[in-house]
Amino acid sequence: MSTALRCPRLFHFRYVEKVPEPEVMPEARIGKAIHVALEHALQGTPPTEAAAKARADLSDEHELHRYDALTAGVAPFTERINRFRRQRRVLRQFVEYSLAVREDLTPTQFYSGDAFYRGVVDAAYLYDDEHLAVVDHKTGRRVPGTSMRDQLEGYLVLSAAWWKSARTFWLGLHWVAERAVEWSPPVAAAEITDRLAPSVLDNIEAAALAIDDGPRTNPGPWCDRCAYRSLCPASQERWEPVYFDDDDD
Ligand code: SF4
Repeated sequence: MSTALRCPRLFHFRYVEKVPEPEVMPEARIGKAIHVALEHALQGTPPTEAAAKARADLSDEHELHRYDALTAGVAPFTERINRFRRQRRVLRQFVEYSLAVREDLTPTQFYSGDAFYRGVVDAAYLYDDEHLAVVDHKTGRRVPGTSMRDQLEGYLVLSAAWWKSARTFWLGLHWVAERAVEWSPPVAAAEITDRLAPSVLDNIEAAALAIDDGPRTNPGPWCDRCAYRSLCPASQERWEPVYFDDDDD
């Protein structure tokens, strides 16, 4: 949805024409490896071992250097989660959990033909009978006040459909490099139904309209992270190589 709203041409490359990405951006490789390390660590692999496992997928020296710096945050985060689990009655942990809903917002399988809206949560904790905490790892640089409203509201709508016993939802952005977790205010289930679900549906409709318009280019700062920029005429006009230290996963 956010891809379609940001650049319909990118959406067409990726999801309509299914063009293999001509280049994988370094930040995407690093972000993926960090997610894998965190996934293993949250599932019980000792953090150093988890980091070493995911490191094997990288080879570039600069990327390895960045990866090593970021993985220093894996152990503290795991310890923080373990502390949370000791203090709260965590009924279940979900890691890299795929969620999907139908058009009427009832849950369905991620790859099911009737899946209307999908998302993958990095980690979620159902605790104290009626609370759900959802955590999203961010491996890019933390920008104070960053708005990820659309993405986070989408997670809330998916979560409310799947975890019906939860009455209150919390969303945490885990900034890996800063070793910080930024929590949203709690959101009640009723608010998700009454306010957020209609807003997410509106966004889906806007994204569908943007796609219907055809593969229109919409160049902007995001072109610097676009894996298809070598194929895109719009990017040739404005793009100059920029080396990033972060990602936008
Ligand atoms: S380079 Fe920019 S305009 Fe072209 S497809 Fe990618 S994001 Fe869209």
